Amino acid sequence: MAEVLVLAELDPSGNGVRKTTLESLTAARALGEPSAVVIAAPGSAAAVKDTLAEYGAAKIYVAESPEVDDYLVAPKAEVLASLVERVSPAAVVIPSSAEGKEVAGRLAIKTGSGFLTDVTEIAPDGTATQVAFAGGVIVHSKVTTGTPIYTVRGNSVTPEPAPAAGAEETVEVSLSDAAKATKVLDRVVEQKSSRPELTEASIVVSGGRGVASAENFSIIEGLADSLGAAVGASRAAVDSGFYPHSFQVGQTGKTVSPQLYIAVGISGAIQHRAGMQTSKTIVAINKDPEAPIFELADFGVVGDLNTVVPQATEQITSRK
Ligand SMILES: Cc1cc2nc3c(=O)[nH]c(=O)nc-3n(C[C@H](O)[C@H](O)[C@H](O)COP(=O)(O)OP(=O)(O)OC[C@H]3O[C@@H](n4cnc5c(N)ncnc54)[C@H](O)[C@@H]3O)c2cc1C
Repeated sequence: MAEVLVLAELDPSGNGVRKTTLESLTAARALGEPSAVVIAAPGSAAAVKDTLAEYGAAKIYVAESPEVDDYLVAPKAEVLASLVERVSPAAVVIPSSAEGKEVAGRLAIKTGSGFLTDVTEIAPDGTATQVAFAGGVIVHSKVTTGTPIYTVRGNSVTPEPAPAAGAEETVEVSLSDAAKATKVLDRVVEQKSSRPELTEASIVVSGGRGVASAENFSIIEGLADSLGAAVGASRAAVDSGFYPHSFQVGQTGKTVSPQLYIAVGISGAIQHRAGMQTSKTIVAINKDPEAPIFELADFGVVGDLNTVVPQATEQITSRK
């Protein structure tokens, strides 16, 4: 069976692999037999190899060196490029994070290959599905040059276990001077809230300008916590200082595709839709029955969020 390389994305706080890696392993199985590639500091692979094998990695290439972690993304692209040259995989699949996309772009240049970003599905014949123009267009594309490289959009594939051998193979890391051009001087791991990561969450509750203040975002957080959801925000809410920019959903923020997206006090501007309209089920809470978000919503509540949201939170909490 054809070998497909899958770049493993590790949790920066040391908690194993990110869910996006399991999604990429699952998507890669359409093309052949996945081999996970761990490019990280020494000692990283031991903690994740069982999970990688559980999700289908027949082989795990372990490229561990203090250097790969010291120099931003260039070492990862270089190690992957040399692996591509050595094992001639059928394809390379990478999680579609900011780092993943940069690694994929560099890898495409190094290997003279075509690459497709933010794919939501990969068919067995290599055809990838992408959602374009704020979700208004579905594109099917195929790489015609070199080794196809794909980055898989978070939450578009459901991770499915498929236990495999997970045979380890050590990869020697020898970096060029070019890969060492930008050195990491310091790393600060962001304090994690107990909520799921926005782009990986299966439920997202987002607040907009209608929430009216930073303090009032506590009702959005309350609803999110009752559902085990992540919190998001519209740009208007972020620009008004209600919530930090890292939580912005939309064209100039994060793209989310959860099972359930609850838009609270959000009008549904095209730039907001661009980041959430592939959500499986969309619920809108808005006091204006003409708000454009209702055109997109599967379920809508017309009402004042200050009344509706606390009641919803209370109901959900009482049913637990
Ligand atoms: C280049 C560009 C990029 C952009 N990128 C993004 C982006 O990434 N993400 C993004 O979100 N926007 C983005 N925008 C901004 C976008 O155009 C909208 O301005 C923004 O999404 C509006 O946010 P909102 O829906 O929270 O605010 P508004 O449009 O002001 O809507 C607020 C809504 O809250 C409702 N409401 C008010 N009070 C209550 C209440 N008490 N109870 C219930 N409902 C209430 C109102 O009826 C209204 O529908 C971008 C714009 C541009 C030009």
